[in-house]
Formats: sequence, structure tokens, C-alpha cells
Amino acid sequence: MGFLFKGQKKENSSTGEKEVRESSTSTPLKSPTLSNQAEISDAAPGSRRPHTLGELKASGYKPVSIREEMRRNLIALIKAKKPIFNGIIGYDNTVIPQVENAVLSGQNIIFLGERGQAKSRVMRLLVGVLDEAIPVIRGCEINDNPFSPVCKYCREKVASEGDNTEIVWLSREDRYGEKLATPDTTIADLIGDVDPVKVAEGRYLSDELTMHYGIIPRTNRGIFCINELPDLAERLQVGLFNLLEEADIQIKGYRIRMPLDIILVASANPEDYTSRGRIITPLKDRFGAQIRTHYPVTIKDEIAIVEQEWQRFNDGDVNFYVPEYVKEVIAEITHLARKSPDIGQRSGVSVRISIANLETVVANAIRRATMLGEKMAVPRISDLPYIVASTTGKLEMEGFEDKNEQKIIDDLTKRAVLIVFNRHFRFEELDPIVEQFNGGFNVETSDSINAKSYVRYIKEIPGMSKAVKKMTDAETPEIVASVVEFILEGGHLNKRLNKTRVEGKTVYKH
Ligand SMILES: [Zn+2]
Repeated sequence: MGFLFKGQKKENSSTGEKEVRESSTSTPLKSPTLSNQAEISDAAPGSRRPHTLGELKASGYKPVSIREEMRRNLIALIKAKKPIFNGIIGYDNTVIPQVENAVLSGQNIIFLGERGQAKSRVMRLLVGVLDEAIPVIRGCEINDNPFSPVCKYCREKVASEGDNTEIVWLSREDRYGEKLATPDTTIADLIGDVDPVKVAEGRYLSDELTMHYGIIPRTNRGIFCINELPDLAERLQVGLFNLLEEADIQIKGYRIRMPLDIILVASANPEDYTSRGRIITPLKDRFGAQIRTHYPVTIKDEIAIVEQEWQRFNDGDVNFYVPEYVKEVIAEITHLARKSPDIGQRSGVSVRISIANLETVVANAIRRATMLGEKMAVPRISDLPYIVASTTGKLEMEGFEDKNEQKIIDDLTKRAVLIVFNRHFRFEELDPIVEQFNGGFNVETSDSINAKSYVRYIKEIPGMSKAVKKMTDAETPEIVASVVEFILEGGHLNKRLNKTRVEGKTVYKH
């Protein structure tokens, strides 16, 4: 069955109509598997791994710092040509090499970028460069290295239990801590606080056993990520700096030594980060690598991300199919928004807008198909106005009172359709179609008209059949209806056809 649009590969020709149902193409964010990391950590969890300090020593295990560990594993992955940043599209020649250089250099990293540039995802994928598991002292709150414990609890434990000290294996997924900085983030959240219960038990305040550890010490020997770093209060930035640089912290006037082994990764909006006074200089200096992220450079990359990320449900009676031109229009709208003077560019125009907009037009097509009892949902031009709901909340409009949000998005949509149409059609290809409208002929379209009503235009409008064939081999009414609307709208936007809106319907006429 010929449902596929030209230029698309048909994957399975024997399954009939089902074949056009979009399958889930999202790539699971799986960490690459290392073959040459510490031999003992590769076994099935808990099987043959040492469970006491004595066994660990006997196994010949050599603990290394997190920087050495990540560097060693990254080199192994590069050698094995194993991708580290699965599912990250469009960063192959920009962001990824810089991240790899930072890891090889043992540097802390700050990512600068507007919203929706996959910063968090890149950060989380760094976990894939860690060993599958590392040994820590059982019961330790800060993942102490059994060979050189930092906390008093572990030092006392090793002193009294020696080689019988129990070991547990911490998986790499558990060695990642993340925090969104807000103005009310506290030292207690990040670093820790004095535990009043423990004080009441009669411990001295300067005794670190009275500490209730925050997220950073708990991520010891791991990767700690802090999002929106400039939103962190200055005294917390100082605290963070002291922890990294001096390996000590001050809580309520008490100094506690805490030599942690942590990779610090942060993210920030570029304008916030560079504006004076938002980040204390010494902390800035602690980031060896400052890496600028970006939006997809090409429409193709934007579409690839949308196809990977959009949420689809295969639970109803209605199949759906998204014509390539619809994806192009959705991606083009976002690209135009990123250049629009009507839209605030400071926080950016996220790829999430493209994703949500595709979900919206597909939803409207499914709603139509369900109401009309059609078997297939195919988004059309008349579904595009519904993207206002999935666009406006994710953008900041520049404050011009004479232009409302709806109008700005309408204008972007028209420009996007025109660009995509003119990418597929030459101006003179419209001639025979436009001709038909000269004698009073007109066409009504709407997002609620059934697909079969469009099929007759293939016969009635000379040139329409040829134009439709250019976009698709399909004869399915739902796909034909979508393409007919695209061609008529292209004719209108090229100023070859007039268009009026009457009672929820669009009329194309001379
Ligand atoms: Zn400990």
C-alpha cells in the first residue's frame, strides 16, 4: 500500500495499513558498557564482588580518583568507538568533543545555554563514563573509599574492624546528584547541617558525627550537577568554593574538614552567567571548561529530535501518520521563532516547543478521526492553529501591546508554511490549479471536514493530482486531504488564491 511520502523508506510492505503507524523510535538512554574497567566490577551485581575490606585487598582492586576513573573509561570508549552520548542529536562536532576534552583533562564543567538544549541530558549521560560499580564502606553516608575513609564513622570502623569491615558496591547510577539552584537553596541542602538530635544525644558541635550531610557530600566519589548556578546565593557559592578548593566547610561557625572527590558540573543561562556579580569569580575559576550549548542548527536535526522525543500512544482504534511536510512546518516555526524580534531570546525557544506542537497537531487529527469515524489520523494545515496552546507558555513575548501572542504565532506559522511549500514547489506549478478558481470555483477546508470530501478535488482541479503525487504516492483519503490543504494554503501564501474564514471554515477562492 502506498502510504508513504516520497523520499521515505518503506520498511515493511507486507503489513498493510499498520505500517504507517509511527513506531517508537526513541533511543533508550543506555550507558555504554565498558569491557576493560576493573575486572571484578563487571560480574553480576553482588555475585563475586568482595564484601569485606580484606577480600577487596586480596582481589587486587586499586581505587582511583573519579577524575582518573572517568578519563580511563572515556579513553577505552573512544578506542572501542562506542558512543557515549546516545540520543544526543546535533552536538557531534560542537558540544561532545568539548565535553570529552574536559573529561580527559579532569575538569569541572559549566554548560552555558538557553532552555531546552539538552544540557541536563548531556550531564546525566556522563554517568556512562563511570565504572559500573565501586566499593564503599557499608553504612557510610558519603560513599567512603574503603582504603582511605574520610568520615569519622568509617575511620573508627576500619580502626576497630580492620579487614572485616563490610563493603558494598555502589552502582554508577547512584553516583549522580543533581540540584536545581533557587534563591532559597540552603547550605543544609547542599552541604549539610548540624543534626540537633545528635547534639541532644550529647555530642560536641564540632564533632562531625553531629552532621546531617547535604547532597554534595552524599554524592562523594560521583558527579554533582547544579542547574541554574547563578541563582545560588553568594554565600552558598562561597561555601561551594571552599568545599572544592579548601576541602573544608563551615557550618554555624564550626569548621569541618571534608576532602571530597567530586566532579562538579553546572548549567546556566549565558546572560545570567556573564552578568556582573551573579557568580563569584573564584568559583568561576573552578570550572576548567565552559561549554556553550546550542539549538539544532538544521531543520533536519530539529525534526530528528522531535521524532525521538514526542510522546505517542498506540492505544486507540485510530492509526496516525505524520506527513513529512507537517514535521518540516513544525520545525520551521520554531526556527523562525528563534530569530523573531517579537519573541524574547534571552531564555530561548526550546526544542520542547517543536515536540509539544507536533503532539498537538497529531492530537487534533486523532480527535477529528475519532469524531468522524475515520481510520487514520493525519494532521493538516487546518490543525496548525491549535499549536497556540503548546507554544505560548514556553515563550516570552516582547512587550508590544499592538501584537498579541495569537497573532505572532499565526504569522510565524504562515511564514513557515510558505517556506516549506516553496521548498517543495515551484511558483509555476500552481498555474493550472489557480486557473480553476477563476470561474467562481471555491474550496472549503476545515479541521472538522471528513477526508473523503477532499478526494474529489483531485479530479475537479486540474493539476491537483500531479501536485499531490509530488508529495505522496498514497491514495488514502486522510493523507490526500492533508496534502490538498497544504497545496491550497501554499497557493494562498504565494498570493495566488484568496482565503476567507467563515464560521470556522476556510474558503479558498479567486
Ligand atoms: Zn564514611
